[in-house]
Amino acid sequence: MDIGIPKEIKNHEYRVGMTPGGVKELVRDGHRLLVETHAGAAIGLSDEQYRAAGAEIVADAGEVFSRAELIVKVKEPQAEEYQRLKPDQVLFTYLHLAPDLPQTQGLLDSGCIAIAYETVTDRSGGLPLLAPMSEVAGRMAIQAGAHCLEKARGGRGVLLGGVPGVPPARVLVLGGGVVGINAARMALGLGADVTLVDKSLARLKELDSLYGPALKTLYSTSDAIEAELPWADLVVGAVLIPGAAAPKLITRAMLALLPKGAVLVDVAIDQGGCFETSKATTHQNPTYMVDDIVHYCVANMPGGVARTSTFALTNATLPFVQALANKGWRQALKEDPHLAAGLNVHKGHIVYQAVAEAHQLPF
Ligand code: NAD
Repeated sequence: MDIGIPKEIKNHEYRVGMTPGGVKELVRDGHRLLVETHAGAAIGLSDEQYRAAGAEIVADAGEVFSRAELIVKVKEPQAEEYQRLKPDQVLFTYLHLAPDLPQTQGLLDSGCIAIAYETVTDRSGGLPLLAPMSEVAGRMAIQAGAHCLEKARGGRGVLLGGVPGVPPARVLVLGGGVVGINAARMALGLGADVTLVDKSLARLKELDSLYGPALKTLYSTSDAIEAELPWADLVVGAVLIPGAAAPKLITRAMLALLPKGAVLVDVAIDQGGCFETSKATTHQNPTYMVDDIVHYCVANMPGGVARTSTFALTNATLPFVQALANKGWRQALKEDPHLAAGLNVHKGHIVYQAVAEAHQLPF
């Protein structure tokens, strides 16, 4: 099968849909990989590396889209990309169609088969193609938070791990899912004093048995969170209620309970944020102050570490890309209901209920 990897064109998107290592596996399976020139150049993946892995380097996106039967990307197609999609072509990428009518219409008009990373499921009810980006964002939340705690960034001038004779910083993590546990693990690794809050007792039990007394766990109520705030140097917001806006666990009034110069990192900002005072920021301008509290609310955190994110994404997508390419999309989806859950648009029809409902279009 001819598989296309175009260069991402969304503003400040440096990730690429497949690493040279992934390309090599697919070439070994007998496929032809068409990689747009400079697709990975911004993150140190050169055309030479792709060529050495067996790819054919093609001059522009037009050629990738006109020749490939399967397109593997990172971000949702931009207008000039979905206009290039053809009937029966398979698109495998993040789509996030529910809030995006123009893209949904573009995919419907193209006649393509669009499979969304974010709705592929796994046996334990998780979302295996969203998880790698949550892992990245969770770990990065501590790196970003530690930086923001420095005086020059408006922080209270506290080092996460402390030093001998000086206690470590106190980190409060709200939500113990993929983002939350990766944040907690990173903070523990740096020597911080970490408390994790979740409203799932089963999850708290699981984390307690994994981490023991090093990780303090707390059942999520607003009283419990309020009681922690006077001691918190860094708070990470990592809650998710699937399909709903994030609950506002810290209100503006509650900011007064925090020490001046404390830092809030709202990873849940892509679902509206779990702090009342959160508004989305960018890597170019990541922070702002409200009531002497530093807010970091970057909506696309993994994009800041695009190289790590690209490798993490390929690790997760590769088995699915291999299934689609080796078996053909129809057979691959028939054999794997979890991959089939990724199908959002099929030859001019929406086949994912939540997307159809969001746009009040037929399902
Ligand atoms: P997850 O489903 O793995 O975990 C969410 C956790 O929140 C669950 O354990 C759940 O029990 C808990 N929770 C729900 N309501 C709660 C409450 N009221 N109090 C305490 N805990 C509560 O989700 P995840 O993969 O960890 O993602 C978390 C958020 O991070 C999502 O909104 C996701 O979209 C976002 N995210 C953002 C970025 C970014 O770049 N900003 C990147 C990746 C993920």
